[in-house]
Amino acid sequence: MSVQQQKTKKPRGVAQLLDGKCIACGARCQSSCPVNCVEMTETGEPIIEAAKCIGCQKCVKICPASALEMYFTPEEQKILADLAASALPTEEEIDPEAADLARKLAEYRGVWVLVEQIEGEPAKVSWELLGVGAGLAKTLGVELCALVIGENVEHLCTEAFAYGATRAYQLDSPIYYHYRTEAYVEGCCHLIEKYKPEIILMGATGMGRDLAGAIATRVATGLTADCTGLAIDDKRNLMQTRPAFGGNIMATIMCDKFRPQMSTVRPNVMPLPLRQEGAEGVIVRDPFTVSEKSILTKVIEIIRDSHSKGGVDITGAEFIVSGGRGMMAPENFAMLQELADELGGVVGASRSAVDAGWMPGDRQVGQTGKTVRPKIYIACGISGAIQHLVGMQDSDMVIAINRDSSAPIFEVATYGIVGDLFQVVPAITNTIRERKKQGQGPSRDI
Ligand SMILES: Cc1cc2nc3c(=O)[nH]c(=O)nc-3n(C[C@H](O)[C@H](O)[C@H](O)COP(=O)(O)OP(=O)(O)OC[C@H]3O[C@@H](n4cnc5c(N)ncnc54)[C@H](O)[C@@H]3O)c2cc1C
Ligand code: SF4
Ligand code: SF4
Repeated sequence: MSVQQQKTKKPRGVAQLLDGKCIACGARCQSSCPVNCVEMTETGEPIIEAAKCIGCQKCVKICPASALEMYFTPEEQKILADLAASALPTEEEIDPEAADLARKLAEYRGVWVLVEQIEGEPAKVSWELLGVGAGLAKTLGVELCALVIGENVEHLCTEAFAYGATRAYQLDSPIYYHYRTEAYVEGCCHLIEKYKPEIILMGATGMGRDLAGAIATRVATGLTADCTGLAIDDKRNLMQTRPAFGGNIMATIMCDKFRPQMSTVRPNVMPLPLRQEGAEGVIVRDPFTVSEKSILTKVIEIIRDSHSKGGVDITGAEFIVSGGRGMMAPENFAMLQELADELGGVVGASRSAVDAGWMPGDRQVGQTGKTVRPKIYIACGISGAIQHLVGMQDSDMVIAINRDSSAPIFEVATYGIVGDLFQVVPAITNTIRERKKQGQGPSRDI
């Protein structure tokens, strides 16, 4: 004879609003409800239709103000108390949907960084990403891996080990010599499906932006572009911070239901990690290749951009003297050029100066321009709008010259000079010249 133990159904309760606690955050509770039982009042507070509520607790968990709780009738409370006392098995202890999702997500492990290269030359942003990737991998307790694609690119795997990777997934074939979206997407998706990384980071460069978007679409996951901060939350989710709404707020974006989590980061946003000569790792040489016939694109010639034709690459400069609307006219930028020449640097600009036609677009620093990380950034007549700051605030030293003492640029400045730039800039240039004549370099007390 067998005795079948009767399972007691665990009551799920219904959500209810706690008086005075709702901060009208924008109806997160309503959008999280899977059965549409939350209506919003004109003041932005929820009204929960108890008869429809299935007690899933999604609204309770998402509410940033802890303004919602689960309500249990006295009978349900008694059942809960009995269950707790008897430790009887209960039905629906675990949300099967959540358990299934957790199982799927757990299949993905490891932080991958794409090592971008052109004709075997790596892009520096790849090493910067290995630096930030190392921190993420450490927090997650997983390996930091490089994703190396090209022809004869094994030296890039070794270089990736020097910058912190312990494993490199390599696709090496003539088909990958030039970057072509189709071939790289096929190759990357093959590796992703086979080895299942939980995070993939790529440079927000022309190639990285193109490839990341195509891969994310193919593997049906989320992608956050132009991240300025990356961290891990307590559920292993990647918290991807980036400017949003025209740069007026910093948004933290998560992709908590899909893997891999993908982000792009612009060059110079993350610091370059120390290079460890001789560091070793494992190279996984995957033979996967793509047939030339299946690729529609042919690379006929690589035409380098203006930087290699005598143009200026402000992203690699150690000293940048930037001018904004306070420069008043294009000819006044000659004054900044003189200072930049003395320092061995380049001239940058705010968007206002570029929009006014005073400087070319490739000099623009900021959210829609370049991100720079020089040793010294001198901001002349630039107010310090957030869209400008995100492009230069990680410079080693910021010197701001502005006649308005309340200009926001002073909040990120190491040294602030309140004054008329038309007097201050020539004075600095002359002082440096004098010091050079006396055989001294520029110093901190100029
Ligand atoms: C979606 C979006 C993207 C954007 N992207 C960028 C971007 O990439 N880069 C960027 O720079 N901006 C960007 N902007 C624009 C940004 O919001 C600001 O409008 C811009 O940065 C302001 O440029 P500015 O500081 O040169 O001009 P202003 O804000 O007009 O500041 C001029 C400053 O010069 C000072 N000044 C004037 N005369 C003198 C003087 N004689 N001596 C000393 N100081 C003087 C003034 O006190 C003032 O602080 C973006 C905006 C949006 C909406
Ligand atoms: S507990 Fe679930 S079903 Fe009930 S209101 Fe909240 S989100 Fe909707
Ligand atoms: S999520 Fe919380 S704070 Fe936001 S509207 Fe709903 S109850 Fe109010």
